[in-house]
Amino acid sequence: MFYKYETHLHTAEVSKCAKSTAVEMVRGHYEAGYAGIIVTDHFINPDSEQWKGLSWEEQVSNFTRGYEIAKAEGDRIGLDVFFGFEYSNRPLGEDYLTYNIGKQFLLDHPEIVNLSIEEYCKLIRGVGGFISQAHPYREAWYIKSPASPKIHLVDAIEVNNGSSDDPDNFNYKAWELARANPQLIRTSGTDIHQLDHELSGLGVSGMAFKYKLRDIRHFIEALRAGDGYLIIDGKVTDREGNIVE
Ligand SMILES: [Zn+2]
Ligand SMILES: [Zn+2]
Repeated sequence: MFYKYETHLHTAEVSKCAKSTAVEMVRGHYEAGYAGIIVTDHFINPDSEQWKGLSWEEQVSNFTRGYEIAKAEGDRIGLDVFFGFEYSNRPLGEDYLTYNIGKQFLLDHPEIVNLSIEEYCKLIRGVGGFISQAHPYREAWYIKSPASPKIHLVDAIEVNNGSSDDPDNFNYKAWELARANPQLIRTSGTDIHQLDHELSGLGVSGMAFKYKLRDIRHFIEALRAGDGYLIIDGKVTDREGNIVE
């Protein structure tokens, strides 16, 4: 018996590239038997129209809306909803999934959007945050640099990303990187933007645990304890990718 959690999820309220709303995401994952989701919308980007002309407080409250709507619906129907985000190393386009950082910390740190990735990772991890480098070898129009994973800056890497459109290549390289650096924790996430997407739809990826998680801090404690199983193509696997359920 496993408790399943989506670790990489976008809501249409906040992520302009997403199609499903926070409420749809919550209901879908509940019906699919997940115990919880971590909402990881794309972080505030001061270069984008979406955030221009707003005070920092307004930006943060717009940014956390997707999570807050999801949380309210999750509380109502019985799905755990935790907060996270996907921070981009502008202008390179590399993405960093960030967990165990709350809204108040964001309100207190408006400089966060303009830090170098080295400064960002140091700040976040210094206050107990946890960072998994998302899809470290993805190639896409918005990623400017040839892939250069910053493994010395992060806690984990996303070895399995459900929405890599060339998974045999991109995820394969991520696995190779993880095997060469056994100190890195391995995470899996769908990067879901739309429930009925043919590739990265509901239930493709995520993490599974043999116990229920209390909160986002418990999530990273469980990962650090080595208690996380990877969900790959809808199957629960061990940290080597061998199917266990
Ligand atoms: Zn997106
Ligand atoms: Zn994403």
